[in-house]
Amino acid sequence: MDAIGNTPVVKLKRLFPNAHVVAKLEYMNPGGSIKDRMVRHMLKRMPASTRRVVESSSGNTGAALAMASAVLGLECDITVPETTSVEKVKRIGAYGANVHVCGAENEGTPGHGYQAVAERMAQERNAFYLDQYCSELNRQAHYVDTGPELWSQLRGEIDVFVCGIGSGGTISGIGRYLKEQNPALRVIGVEPLHSSYRQMVTDVSAPGQFATVIEGVGKCKPSRSFDPTVVDDVIQVADEEALAWGRRLAQEEGILAGGSSGCITAGIAQLLPQLQGKRVAAVFPDSGAFYLSKYF
Ligand code: PMP
Repeated sequence: MDAIGNTPVVKLKRLFPNAHVVAKLEYMNPGGSIKDRMVRHMLKRMPASTRRVVESSSGNTGAALAMASAVLGLECDITVPETTSVEKVKRIGAYGANVHVCGAENEGTPGHGYQAVAERMAQERNAFYLDQYCSELNRQAHYVDTGPELWSQLRGEIDVFVCGIGSGGTISGIGRYLKEQNPALRVIGVEPLHSSYRQMVTDVSAPGQFATVIEGVGKCKPSRSFDPTVVDDVIQVADEEALAWGRRLAQEEGILAGGSSGCITAGIAQLLPQLQGKRVAAVFPDSGAFYLSKYF
């Protein structure tokens, strides 16, 4: 658990030779994603009597919690939507946790989506429910851990922070910390087309059906973990763009990152004309190794 964090920051010199763009490689965490940090923060605050944990996840929180449960000797149940990649589902199981894949046909039915199933399971099994979409501890983890780490690694040399939005915990926690250090810093969110966060920040409505193959980012309804007051703008990216930039990250930078990292990179490419002379930092949440059968 102490191996979580202290992930490297690298400059994207080949994709953006005329700009200053760095990325923090969160796939270097032992559980394979940024969610290791949030899970560690939450488990430090669970009741001492806890024997079982439950969470809903697009896969990475599940793997982080399954890893921590193995270390701490906890029984662990994870619900995931059926769109989750095979590699991510198997990864959770490999740590010895129980994975419950919830059908997409139920997502729109109140009480039957993967989040609702987890909530019910936690009550029935008297388990600690992490609840990343509502818990204050989600963004707090990034406010006390990831944000300060990024700021000190870059010695404060950052003008624009670009971040994907899923639950909203990462952008809200890191964004708040960075703005407290430098109020002039801009925080820009990136999400797939027709996701709901852009409207929350800019009041610009985006007609059209939210549907994406990019895991971890975008929501048809904003999560309570998102704090719109720290976000200056949200840009939206088409799936094809996200996947194309994800492949370029692997093939030109040697960074095998997940689809959301491709989405974030596509967002930076969109913003490039506004970023001249600015020092840009982004977070790459997870590894492309978890999507070999899906995106590559
Ligand atoms: N990318 C991936 C691959 C993720 O798993 C997540 C977490 N859902 C995110 C981005 C977004 O992070 P957050 O939930 O903190 O907004």
